[in-house]
Amino acid sequence: MPAPTKPTISPTVWTILFGVLAMGVVGLFSNVGDVASIPYSQFQSYLETGKVKQVVVNGDNIRGTLTEPTADGKTQFATTIVARDLATALAAKNVEFSGTPAGGAFSTILSWVLPPLLFLGVWMFASRGMGGAGGMAGGLFSIGRSKAKLVTAETDIAVAFDDVAGVDEAKAELHEIVDFLKEPVKFGRLGAHIPRGILLVGPPGTGKTLLARAVAGEAGVPFFSTNGAEFVEMFVGVGASRVRDLFEHARTSAPCIIFIDELDALGRARGATPMGGQDEKEQTLNQLLAEMDGFDRSAAIVVLAATNRPEILDPALLRAGRFDRQVLVDRPDKVGRVQILAIHTRKLSLAADVDLGDIAALTPGFTGADLANLANEAAVVATRRGGDNIAMGDFTAAVERIVAGLEKKSRILIPRERRIVAYHEMGHALVAMSIPGSDPIQKVSIIPRGIGALGYTLQRPTDDRFLMGLRELEDKMTVLMGGRAAETLLGEDVSTGASDDLAKATDIARGMVLRFGMDKALGPVAWDTEQGQFLGQPGAYWQPRRFSDRTAYEIDLAVRTRLESALARAIGILAYNRAALDEGAQALLARETLGAQDLPTVRAPATIAPIEGGIV
Ligand code: ADP
Ligand code: ZN
Repeated sequence: MPAPTKPTISPTVWTILFGVLAMGVVGLFSNVGDVASIPYSQFQSYLETGKVKQVVVNGDNIRGTLTEPTADGKTQFATTIVARDLATALAAKNVEFSGTPAGGAFSTILSWVLPPLLFLGVWMFASRGMGGAGGMAGGLFSIGRSKAKLVTAETDIAVAFDDVAGVDEAKAELHEIVDFLKEPVKFGRLGAHIPRGILLVGPPGTGKTLLARAVAGEAGVPFFSTNGAEFVEMFVGVGASRVRDLFEHARTSAPCIIFIDELDALGRARGATPMGGQDEKEQTLNQLLAEMDGFDRSAAIVVLAATNRPEILDPALLRAGRFDRQVLVDRPDKVGRVQILAIHTRKLSLAADVDLGDIAALTPGFTGADLANLANEAAVVATRRGGDNIAMGDFTAAVERIVAGLEKKSRILIPRERRIVAYHEMGHALVAMSIPGSDPIQKVSIIPRGIGALGYTLQRPTDDRFLMGLRELEDKMTVLMGGRAAETLLGEDVSTGASDDLAKATDIARGMVLRFGMDKALGPVAWDTEQGQFLGQPGAYWQPRRFSDRTAYEIDLAVRTRLESALARAIGILAYNRAALDEGAQALLARETLGAQDLPTVRAPATIAPIEGGIV
């Protein structure tokens, strides 16, 4: 069922609206309450018997006070004048008669209906903030109800574990949940209980939502899906009531799954947000905690939540009985990428030359979502080319498009720029080729791509790497410096083209010095902790520097020395292979794109300048 779009009028606005309307009406026709509304004939007889003490005449309306109370104990009265002659005639015949104000019956009814509505509105609003039951009013107005309730739970989810690949550990963990949801009673026979909350931790696009849906699909239970950000609204109490509604509804549909995406939007550590909305978030968070604590042990509800920033979550969320189990959903490795590609190419007609293993080798660091996108992109490329099926070339073209941005044949470089770019890229390639153990070069090109890159060198990683050695990091920095080194050797002005390379190399050098304890002078100290990586992101907290000015100076110096050494080493390698550099650059200028087989051979110089300051 598609999510109905909810008009977002806040309850506060509604309440104020009700109030203004109702009060206006009450003010106009205040013949309610202690005022007896009497027929005009009655008034005349009161008048005759001297019971009227005082009157105020307002147009056709008379309000007044009696000397003694009426039958129902009221001394105030109101009535409407009936035309005088007629009144005299009617009175003579002893007929009871009365008038109606010109506004008519409708306003009178309104004045009776609106005040209760006003109370209802106020009560609904208040009950939300105080935790009272909103059940009665719920049928009437669904303001502030959770989106999960409006969307209603998804049932008959067609996603299965077979549709998720590359996250085997996570799948194994979640299998247990499926068993539990399928047969909660049997599962609880020996007193075993299942975790109520499971936190799926991993970068965007790795399949966290997909996994949660697969659990629901495998177990055949309803799936309530919501987003942490949806709970965070301006009005205090609304988020909390949404959480309450969500769980209330889930309890009636148990066994079921509640999925909260982007839990960090809601569960940020208290005090971590610099701006307002704090109370609201805290209330909502507290409500979530209360709901999770309040679960009946046997209630077959499992809350799955996703985040890519577990370190900023409020510790209270991670305590026992809440999200006490964390499942890592990481980027897939090569085998995982092959499996994910297999899933997403199931329905595509592939040419015989397509090798999913080769595609996986080209795409380290791709998430499941990236690979799904790649499969689609390859199909688009094949369609545009008018092919009968999707060939390997379509996949490599798609990879290049995704990795390097769209090819821009129309961008025209002046000859001097082209020459610099050709040397720059050939510099990267030759330095990489001369260093044993570097990733092989797959392609070098001087076709401008994307927004920034004027050329590119694609290295083909042989394996996924989880650990990097000191030497490897130095090699990487040297390859990154290859572009600038070649420009230097060309003897023309050095260009701005190396800025991205320099930034990457600097990151590596800083990591070596600040985090990995790889610099001799600065010692095995983690000067900078991982948290530093989140600086610069909105909402990150400012951390004081934890070293002295002198250390800061030494760090700067150490980083600079490492970068200078890497550049010197790259220049050394290219100077030694100067002929190959010129030859390769000319070939690039002529053909724009070179494959591995078109590259000149290089020789590694016998001695490469050692990098100062490393641990030996
Ligand atoms: P997340 O919730 O982690 O951001 P999603 O579950 O929304 O990621 O993934 C988006 C899409 O990417 C999925 O619908 C699916 O098509 C594809 N995808 C992501 N991860 C995987 C995976 N591990 N296996 C298969 N497909 C995946
Ligand atoms: Zn470069």
